[in-house]
Amino acid sequence: MYPAEFEYFAPRTVSEALALLERYGDDAKILAGGQSLLPMMKLRIAGPKYLIDVNRIDGLNGMRREGDRLVMGALCRHADVAGSALVGEHLPIMADAARLTADVQVRNRGTVAGSLAHADPAGDWPAALLALDTEVQIAGPAGTRTSPLHEFIVDAYTTQLEAAEIVVGISVGIPRAPAGGAYVKFEKRAGDFAVASIGVQIGLDGDQCRAVAISLGALGPTATRARAAEQLLQGHAPSPDRLQEAARLVQDAAQPFADTRGSVEYKRHLAGVLFRRAFAAALDRARGRQVEPIHP
Ligand SMILES: Cc1cc2nc3c(=O)[nH]c(=O)nc-3n(C[C@H](O)[C@H](O)[C@H](O)COP(=O)(O)OP(=O)(O)OC[C@H]3O[C@@H](n4cnc5c(N)ncnc54)[C@H](O)[C@@H]3O)c2cc1C
Repeated sequence: MYPAEFEYFAPRTVSEALALLERYGDDAKILAGGQSLLPMMKLRIAGPKYLIDVNRIDGLNGMRREGDRLVMGALCRHADVAGSALVGEHLPIMADAARLTADVQVRNRGTVAGSLAHADPAGDWPAALLALDTEVQIAGPAGTRTSPLHEFIVDAYTTQLEAAEIVVGISVGIPRAPAGGAYVKFEKRAGDFAVASIGVQIGLDGDQCRAVAISLGALGPTATRARAAEQLLQGHAPSPDRLQEAARLVQDAAQPFADTRGSVEYKRHLAGVLFRRAFAAALDRARGRQVEPIHP
């Protein structure tokens, strides 16, 4: 199906884009990679009268290290992250998420910022980045502001973004070594959205877990953290008994709904299985072992 008619703008600066958003309000939509918005327009689920294409804005591309943070422009594509040496070295959990998102064509166009702004409950980026210290950089009429990711996404397909605001970048804390992370996803077929996914980020102090973050994707209306499981592991060596109890707590933290991808019981079961796989890979990486992305 063809989308409904719309007017198209291609501003060259963030200020021009913001002025257009101010002028057209809720009738306007930002277009980034178009990999979520255009299908929705074709299906007539979305029908913006004005499309503001941000792809020609200078300064929204690229990825760089700023002190102990990785900063990505809003036009950073999934493929940019998958191919980044900086990400591969310090944030392999992000490399996993990038490589497990969709297919090559979507990864070449879709942006990480677009995925966060879209806030699909089954999106890979909200889940993977929630296990990290992630901040969303936002520009609006009153200037720029920063929102921690756990506050930025407020519900399914709903973020804190006001009608006249744009995501301009994403900043991620680089974990202190020795550290390792992994993102594991179960999908019905290659390139599909997750039935369930888990991210684990661990910092080690000898044999003990100095820091642990566990995130859940497609297991509730938004990506979420398994705080009780994190607390159980923090400050302890991950013994088999402790990991078994942590897996149970991860399952408790899951609030899945039944849909064509599976029942509540099935998804909750997956949460425990994926947690164990993600934890094992994150631990291996924290100990300096190479682990390829896991395709369950
Ligand atoms: C076949 C297919 C398979 C897919 N599989 C997966 C998958 O396995 N996992 C997964 O996570 N995703 C998947 N996706 C979605 C894909 O990852 C999208 O790229 C992503 O969700 C949105 O990024 P985008 O840049 O394409 O955003 P767009 O489609 O351009 O925009 C999406 C929404 O975000 C808003 N937006 C975009 N950028 C900004 C910005 N800078 N500031 C403010 N608002 C903004 C838009 O207005 C729109 O509302 C799939 C898509 C397709 C077509």
